[in-house]
Amino acid sequence: QDRLKAFGKDSDFAPKHVHVIGAGVMGGDIAAVCAAKGMTVTLQDQSVERIAPAIKRAAEFYAKRYRGDKKQVRFALDRLIADPQGAGVAQADVIIEAIFENLEVKQKVFADVEARAKPDAVIATNTSSLKLEDIAATFRNPSRLVGIHFFNPVPKMPLVEVVTAENSDADAAKKAAAFVRKIDKLPLPVKSAPGFLVNAVLGPYLLEAMRCVDEGIAPEAVDAAALAFGMPMGPIELADTVGLDIAMAAGKGLTGAAEPPKKLAELMAAGNLGKKSGKGFYTWV
Ligand code: NAD
Repeated sequence: QDRLKAFGKDSDFAPKHVHVIGAGVMGGDIAAVCAAKGMTVTLQDQSVERIAPAIKRAAEFYAKRYRGDKKQVRFALDRLIADPQGAGVAQADVIIEAIFENLEVKQKVFADVEARAKPDAVIATNTSSLKLEDIAATFRNPSRLVGIHFFNPVPKMPLVEVVTAENSDADAAKKAAAFVRKIDKLPLPVKSAPGFLVNAVLGPYLLEAMRCVDEGIAPEAVDAAALAFGMPMGPIELADTVGLDIAMAAGKGLTGAAEPPKKLAELMAAGNLGKKSGKGFYTWV
């Protein structure tokens, strides 16, 4: 408890500039949250066209959060800068990679980041399932890489896992935790291990709930049981909400089961990935 409460508190690290690579679901929202906290944020993706939807989403999020207070909306939006060339890497105090979950592509991106980042900048990945050691394997100094693992939806989820490998630099982890505190989230120190902590618990839970559906229990009944137990949302609805592809990736390799649940495999094969595609275990309109 004390370690958790103290993690990152003794660091005087005060990041002013955050560079986010990947303007998708996670990167876009991480950038939006940091800009709202007054940090300068450069947001990089493969083209301006890929960055624009994230900035539009941020504008909508600010309008809602600040209830039409144009000054506050402008304050945050002015700090969120589209940076398709990645010029911000060289100035940033914290660099967060949130691109596709692909080891080779991440390693390529980090080769450029490591070459251009300030020597004292925090270099972090938002990966959910890749090993920190594998991503860092192509670093000149692998101890520089830490994980800063956000949860979806970023503006709502207060927990952020700060991931370290055996040889990670302790100071980098402390700075990462201090950064997480600066954006008013709770840093949880975890070791680089499959699923870290939250997904290691959540993945098998979601897959087991789906196996109940395979056995003939209605999704509504599975969810009702979890709600009655005190969970804020049922596991089937939660899987539909985070996306069945994401739930599958989180559960894969954590349960020790060779086969995914049958219904899950069927839905995924048909392109029904949950809320985002209008259909999953439930129909979403
Ligand atoms: P996404 O598909 O929504 O976005 C990925 C973005 O990366 C795309 O916009 C793509 O254009 C961009 N990209 C790909 N290659 C690039 C490159 N070389 N340079 C710059 N940009 C590039 O993905 P996401 O769901 O936001 O996931 C991103 C990362 O976050 C993954 O590592 C994933 O494991 C992790 N993560 C995802 C979730 C989630 O619920 N979606 C939660 C926690 C962590």
